[in-house]
Amino acid sequence: MSKPCLIFATSNQDKAKELRDIFPEFDIKTLRDVGFDGDIVENGDTFEENALIKARAVSAFAESSGIDCIVIADDTGLCVNALDGAPGIFSARYSGGGYEDNCVKLLGEMKDREDRSAVFVCVAAMGHRDRYLTYRGEVPGRIAYEMLGTDGFGYDPVFIEDSTGLTYAQMGEDEKNRIGHRKRAFEGIRPFILEELREESK
Ligand code: IMP
Repeated sequence: MSKPCLIFATSNQDKAKELRDIFPEFDIKTLRDVGFDGDIVENGDTFEENALIKARAVSAFAESSGIDCIVIADDTGLCVNALDGAPGIFSARYSGGGYEDNCVKLLGEMKDREDRSAVFVCVAAMGHRDRYLTYRGEVPGRIAYEMLGTDGFGYDPVFIEDSTGLTYAQMGEDEKNRIGHRKRAFEGIRPFILEELREESK
């Protein structure tokens, strides 16, 4: 039997790879897979608003293209206490450069800070036929003094997860996808996706 399809409102192949691992029972399609090449302006003030902006934009596209498929999205960021929650919802645009530039900027900002506590936030959203909801997953940790580890992407080398004492980049993708922020957020969304699929099949 074929797997139910979910459109993941992202062009980020790193996120998509994680989600395929977290949700092996679904056929995860990215924006590229469904031919969406529009711009989504993430101008919300919260992770929740931005996750819903993505889910709504892609749901509208799916509907206009005749694709009746559940849409999922996430908005993710690293919130550092000593920096009043920065980079937060601006995590993608923090340095104006790529993943490594963002890490370098963050390490610079944290150079002389004693309080290194931080939280990785992921808000997952689900949308289908005018029904939308979000679920927040958070993982506490602290900011390393240097980049550690080679796995993962984004801020993974600088975020030390509390329970393991390892950066996400050191623990490897299996462990990250078992205990990470994205796993927590999408585990919370899973029952609603299953419910939506049950409704659909009635
Ligand atoms: P967005 O949710 O696509 O807006 O992602 C914001 C930024 O957060 C991305 O560009 C990455 O730099 C970073 N990011 C998102 N998810 C992760 C993750 O799982 N680990 C590390 N960095 C991440």
